[in-house]
Amino acid sequence: MSFLVWRLLQGWLPADEIMMKRGIAIASKCYCCAQVETLEHIFLTNPIAKQVWAYFAGLVGIRNSGVSSVQQVITTWSLSVSTAGHIKQVLPIIIFWELWEARNKAKHDSANYSLDNICRRVHNILQVNSKANMTQPKFWTGDSFLTALLGVHVLVTSKKVPTLYKWEKLAAGTHKLNIDAAGYGGILRNDQGHLVMALGLQGSCTSPIQAEVEALFSCLRICAGQGHKHMDIEVDSLQLVNMIKTKKAPWQLRNTIHTPE
Ligand SMILES: [Zn+2]
Repeated sequence: MSFLVWRLLQGWLPADEIMMKRGIAIASKCYCCAQVETLEHIFLTNPIAKQVWAYFAGLVGIRNSGVSSVQQVITTWSLSVSTAGHIKQVLPIIIFWELWEARNKAKHDSANYSLDNICRRVHNILQVNSKANMTQPKFWTGDSFLTALLGVHVLVTSKKVPTLYKWEKLAAGTHKLNIDAAGYGGILRNDQGHLVMALGLQGSCTSPIQAEVEALFSCLRICAGQGHKHMDIEVDSLQLVNMIKTKKAPWQLRNTIHTPE
């Protein structure tokens, strides 16, 4: 993948415009629009590529607007962190790789060139790669919440010490909803701590974070349906809290998180 980026920086990839400059007669027709195909168009400025960059930049919190060259992308992402091999340095390389793959498949195999396919493939590479060498916490320094957003499992070596939490008194008339993804349900109590509803859910989830998200939103739907609209919510997943605070969710959970209720 790094080799691809090196060739890209040298202008050594067979985009139509480059082939034409070398005197090869071809009628350039872009796979996504009617423009002449340049390297900038493939990797940065075509409408789908722009959305891919916007999606991943938004996810990891990098300002990508105004970036107009491949060199600038690499510099911006690399300088955003100090650890070599950090996810923010690796991600743009994977995105360049997948934009090139998608272009080749669209051009030569008439494959569907879509935002969804490209984003899904970038996520897949990260997840496969995480089994090999992205599992070290140092590659996620300062951005550990991204592991959930990107679906990567990082090795955690520290032992968890159980923490004891006390029941905190609520304002009169409010309720508290405790979500438990392991039990796939929730408990609603009133301001005196008395049980109002115990919620048991049914469903199949493919990951712990998906279970957290679905348990929360399913319980909220049920509580709202029973007329309980103002409540404190307690969850034991920091990943879930970060997702809601930052409004950033993994690709496959975006519909659940963003569905208006
Ligand atoms: Zn195009």
